[in-house]
Amino acid sequence: PDTAWVNGRFLPLADASVSVLDRGFLFSDSVYEVIPVYAGTPFRMDDHLQRLARSLDALGIADPHGIDGWRALLAELVEVNGGGDLAIYLQVTRGAPSRRDHRIPHDVEPTVVAFCQTRAAPDPEALAAGLAAITTDDTRWRDCHIKSTSLLANVLAADAARAEGATEAILVRDGAVLEGTSSNVFAVIDGRLVTPALRPTILPGITRGVVLGIARAQALDHAEVDTLTPEALRAAEEVWITSSTREIFPVTRLDGASVGDGVPGPLWTRVRGWLQAGLHD
Ligand code: PLP
Repeated sequence: PDTAWVNGRFLPLADASVSVLDRGFLFSDSVYEVIPVYAGTPFRMDDHLQRLARSLDALGIADPHGIDGWRALLAELVEVNGGGDLAIYLQVTRGAPSRRDHRIPHDVEPTVVAFCQTRAAPDPEALAAGLAAITTDDTRWRDCHIKSTSLLANVLAADAARAEGATEAILVRDGAVLEGTSSNVFAVIDGRLVTPALRPTILPGITRGVVLGIARAQALDHAEVDTLTPEALRAAEEVWITSSTREIFPVTRLDGASVGDGVPGPLWTRVRGWLQAGLHD
């Protein structure tokens, strides 16, 4: 996939660029989405586009395309990139005024960038092993429900995980587990599936919503909880992370100790099966 869309035209990704005065570059004045594509078909595209609309609205950026415009544009983007299994990345910035100035300009056109990356299905061996995670202090700002490109705290926390031989950092604020640096968090505690209830410091993940939909449809004992402590997470029978690119991934080591038996749990196996069955809906 080597064709990008920048401000109204397709061009080779290697040649795609934006101005150094772009406010996305200078101030992270910008929002984004990542939409998984299975065999050429975007999964839950409308949910992603509705979240994009909410993110743009929160920043007061006019939606440059609208839902139907986005649908048409992304369908074409997938097609020119050959379809198959992809992840669409799209970003809308406030735009590029003629000078750097903190004050928001109200007369610029948003910058729109979209491109695709290959998306491999989670490797069966990696899934069977599960991943290692750490818990760490959440130093992000307080409006993480907006999918903005202000991701510095996320990337530094993810790198702290890497430095400890782990793959994901689970962010904790005021004694409560919130989410991963690029994922939502689920746990099985006393047989019940729990996830932190949405609040401004949690991104309403599309995959999180899909998993909760499965829990409802299958009448699983489940709850969105106000406070999931890191201690309760470490003592859980199962821990999972969810995201559009990782689907539902089992966490088998947390803060250097095994989660449950240290292997993906039985509820994960069942919920993953249901998710897989619905991925082409
Ligand atoms: N939380 C954060 C901070 C994320 O960056 C992401 C996705 O990258 C998620 C949660 C999961 O969201 P989704 O399932 O919509 O991919």
